[in-house]
Amino acid sequence: MQKILIANRGEIALRIVRACRELGIKTLAVYSEPDIESLHVQLADEAICIGPGPSGESYLKADRILSAAEIADVDAIHPGYGFLSENADFAEQCESCNIKFIGPKSVCIRKMGDKAVAKDTVRKAGVPVVPGSDGPIESEKEAIKIVKKMGYPVIIKAVAGGGGRGMRIAHNDVSFAKEYHAARGEAEKTFGNGAVYVEKFIQNPRHIEFQILADAHGKILHLGERDCSVQRRHQKLIEEAPSPYLTAEMRKKMGRSAIKAAEAAEYENAGTVEFLIDGAGHYYFIEMNTRIQVEHPVTEEVTGLDLIKEQIRIASGEALELEQRKIQFTRHAIECRINAEDPARNFAPSPGTIDLYYAPGGHGVRVDSHVYGGYTIPPYYDSMIGKLISYGANRQIAIERMYRALSEYIIRGVKTTIPFHRAILSDPTFVEGKVTTGYVQEFLNRSPADLF
Ligand code: ADP
Repeated sequence: MQKILIANRGEIALRIVRACRELGIKTLAVYSEPDIESLHVQLADEAICIGPGPSGESYLKADRILSAAEIADVDAIHPGYGFLSENADFAEQCESCNIKFIGPKSVCIRKMGDKAVAKDTVRKAGVPVVPGSDGPIESEKEAIKIVKKMGYPVIIKAVAGGGGRGMRIAHNDVSFAKEYHAARGEAEKTFGNGAVYVEKFIQNPRHIEFQILADAHGKILHLGERDCSVQRRHQKLIEEAPSPYLTAEMRKKMGRSAIKAAEAAEYENAGTVEFLIDGAGHYYFIEMNTRIQVEHPVTEEVTGLDLIKEQIRIASGEALELEQRKIQFTRHAIECRINAEDPARNFAPSPGTIDLYYAPGGHGVRVDSHVYGGYTIPPYYDSMIGKLISYGANRQIAIERMYRALSEYIIRGVKTTIPFHRAILSDPTFVEGKVTTGYVQEFLNRSPADLF
């Protein structure tokens, strides 16, 4: 591979530029007008502007990205996460232009991108899934019938959902009717597809996902789990590996299920199989993400692998040399998402200019961020400023290091989630590893109003 177009922005675009540099591969950045000063644009070998700020007019414009690919004569496109990364039509367009899409084949993205089809596919392969409707539900009447059998509470999910959006919980027939229609409307508006399905709402689960690597020659490996239970409104805030909850035996069992799910999807490249675990230790598949994830550095720091390079090698047709039994988890790693949001004001977005920036460093600390002093966070995109990752020989060291690094991190000019992370990192419930997906809300409920 000689040249890769990076169809993304922010920290992930920079992360890909860095991996390519080390591999001796040239990069082409595409960018929107307000992103001209971005680091990924500055550091890539070439850059082409693809439109104005709103992503619908730039980063989501497949035809403009493909034109840039043709003009600059690239071999491949790395989609990063978000934007077009899970868009099967875009992957298919790349395939038809003979430009390698760094990810799975479009048929696989299509299959796993429909959450109801994905569930059905892995269930048939013997992977446990959350009990619920077989596929999308067509009417309120049909839905109520299924729900009656299952019992409340239930969760209504958009088949095309993602990013923690398009989910509604119902506790009785009255709230179900209301939420069912609201979920359909919201799904139609957000994802252009109003189809929804229902499943049992698991009370206070843990969210544990497995990183998969699969080459084009049929070899599939898992790189262990990430525990992503620290979430607010279904959006992840802190991820760690290994999970403080899993025993070696559970890891083996779930890892096998994750590989089975990837096999059933005829998966290729890096992907993630997501599970929920209930209080009794039962685990259930919820979805598969067919792309690199925000939290991939956690896995990199415990396994010593570079997942972006692995993605590029796989896309080049190279066979995975790794062996499952040789993959060791020798360290503990934690990632905090640093967002331009104000935790004191219900996490309201806080775009603006960063007038002073100092990133932490030292032993066991990694910062993946595209910002710098004087950088203006545009209002058009997600609010992530960067990811702070700490690692060490065990969980306690990783926690202490994270707390220390958070205390060193200076970002002036915008509000950030740093004070929130510091509060969580010193909360005994988190320190003891007793977190479920309801933990953040419970923490906020019991914290004084002026905590941040
Ligand atoms: P998205 O693709 O939008 O991220 P997911 O299906 O991955 O959606 O779910 C995101 C989060 O929503 C999960 O981590 C969990 O907290 C919650 N969730 C999803 N399904 C259920 C369920 N059946 N029961 C309880 N919580 C759920």
